[in-house]
Amino acid sequence: MKARKEILTDCTLCYHSCGIKVAVEDGKAVEVKGLASHPINKGELCPKGENILDTIYHPQRIKYPMKKVNGKFERISWETALDEISRKLSDLKEEFGPQMMGMFSGSIGVENMEIAGLTQRFKTAFGSPNFFSVESVCYRMRIRTRQITFGKYPTEELDSNLYILWGHNPDASDLPLKMAIEKNMQKGAKVVVIDPKKIPMSKNADMVLTIRPGSDGALALAMIHVIIKEKRYDRAFIDKHTKGFEKLVPHIEPFTPEWAQKITWVPADKIRKLARMFAATKGAAIYQGTCTQDQTANGTQNSRAFSILQVITGNINVPGGWVISPRPYLGNVGLAGDGDPLGIDKYPLFIELWGRKSPYGVVTMVPENIPDLLKSFIVVGGNPLVSMPDSNAFKEAFRKLDLLVVHDLYMTDTAKEAHYVLPACSNLEKYGVAYNYNVCHCIPYLMLRKKCIEPYEESWSEWKLFTELAKRLGLEEYFPWASEEELVAFELGQTGFSFDYLLNEKPEGDYYQQKSYTIPDGTFKTPSKKIEIYSDAMQQAGFDPLPTYLEPLKSPQSKKYRDLKKYPLILGTGNRSYYYTHSQHRNIDALNGQDPHPMAELSRNTAKDFGIKQGDDVSVSTDRGTVFMKASVVDCVADGIVFVPHGWSGQANANLLTDAKCREPILGYPDMKSLMCAIKSVEISR
Ligand code: SF4
Repeated sequence: MKARKEILTDCTLCYHSCGIKVAVEDGKAVEVKGLASHPINKGELCPKGENILDTIYHPQRIKYPMKKVNGKFERISWETALDEISRKLSDLKEEFGPQMMGMFSGSIGVENMEIAGLTQRFKTAFGSPNFFSVESVCYRMRIRTRQITFGKYPTEELDSNLYILWGHNPDASDLPLKMAIEKNMQKGAKVVVIDPKKIPMSKNADMVLTIRPGSDGALALAMIHVIIKEKRYDRAFIDKHTKGFEKLVPHIEPFTPEWAQKITWVPADKIRKLARMFAATKGAAIYQGTCTQDQTANGTQNSRAFSILQVITGNINVPGGWVISPRPYLGNVGLAGDGDPLGIDKYPLFIELWGRKSPYGVVTMVPENIPDLLKSFIVVGGNPLVSMPDSNAFKEAFRKLDLLVVHDLYMTDTAKEAHYVLPACSNLEKYGVAYNYNVCHCIPYLMLRKKCIEPYEESWSEWKLFTELAKRLGLEEYFPWASEEELVAFELGQTGFSFDYLLNEKPEGDYYQQKSYTIPDGTFKTPSKKIEIYSDAMQQAGFDPLPTYLEPLKSPQSKKYRDLKKYPLILGTGNRSYYYTHSQHRNIDALNGQDPHPMAELSRNTAKDFGIKQGDDVSVSTDRGTVFMKASVVDCVADGIVFVPHGWSGQANANLLTDAKCREPILGYPDMKSLMCAIKSVEISR
């Protein structure tokens, strides 16, 4: 009889980190189910999670270290790989200085704090300031902007009375929020959808606002205008907790609903109605898409305007609003270092706020700095040649590197370009701390990620990789943990939970504190100790201290973009699929069978105008490149727009269309949601 055990851990195939039960028989994971007691997924799993074992045991997983010799990969030992990599790094450091090394971790480094933390630690130990991640294209913009405004990061709660889904489609990417909305709608919660596309939740929504991509900031400003002009704001909250409201009042005067209608396509009466509904609801929250607002020309100011909407309606620290949830005292695996990360001169607020420095550089500036500044890259759990904007620019630049090392589960497009490819452990093969429940869902909960099975073939965890590499570089003092368990115990240090407690007594995870909805003195960690409606930090960095609107550089209304005849349609890239996380999982048959082709979506009218029929092979082009997809002619997309999904590789890679130099001016994020394109039917010989 086979020895069977059941281990409680988390999925980690996307940022939700749902709780799962893994059955292991004779050392092999044989079954995965949702964990009913887990506060995020309550036993449910999405198709990716249901099929996680196909990802873990897929025959295409990288089995051993490889080195590229004469354009082909050859198997080598870990010892040889690390000896050669460390020698090359030492030589380059001696010749060009430590800043020549860049490091990158993908979105998996957000879910796996150990990946991001150890990568940061390694670059600091080596002496380089240049760590890059998805943090400078996605999500951190909202965190940074809320820090600028509140001195803290208030998060939208899952249970709300009014959900404003602002460029967010929970059916495609947010299982926990979808479950919460469906439950709360039965209790009377209202839903508003603001999107250029009708999403599944539009069907039962209380209001649907069809908006032009990239114009969200104008709508938010007009809502503030209505709330102030009609005196629907929460005076008591504003007086007690904010600074700068009196400057906002005259500033907002020109941003009328009629002004916004011309920009956004949303009728002025609908803007008024939504503003009134929002102001009248305690426990209302704006739920941004993961990056739909970040990746536009007005991104930072969009987020500022959303914050101000929450503030002036008193929807801060009330149930169902944005709430400052307590953080645990986690040991910091990352290590602060000297030197300025790439981008600090152009986008200082992304990197430094009130003397506090974040560890990330601006990734959109990487291509233009290879090879002058950056000579080598170590990519850990990421596929920047597909997931970062402007794949052609990244690929061209990466080909100029003296050393490219990729540590991953699969041979990604980025790995194919590497000098060395190293096999990585999956989340079932190593320990970690699952904590993003608080950052993303306002739930002060954490869980121990358990090692359920031994590493696949010769795969190593990041702890082992960096510990061994550091030894060869004489940097072992920076990696003092003798095992992964020790590393995770260090992270848990002051949380009040020990490794053993979370392993044996609470394997399902535990609440480390309860949320409080009060606002004691000192809650807001801004210099003024108030919520800064008027932001001195923005003003000192040379930006408008009150929210404003900036038209996308490449838009039908932009004076700067003169090539409209060639690119007459608005382009949004990055549509999410329920079956994939970014560039991952397309090799999993059960998932690929559900979503087999990259589809360019456009409306019936637009398709007719351009002579395109359902299922046609089409090319979509911008001034940066061309992709080939199939046409999906739908009723749900507004006229004049083409949406393409991201994460596909080769000729369907949406980031062949985006532009690393088309950046939001404050935090340097790329505009990937509001570009201009052309589309046409093409013949593809197969
Ligand atoms: S939503 Fe799906 S992929 Fe994401 S953690 Fe949950 S089960 Fe895994």
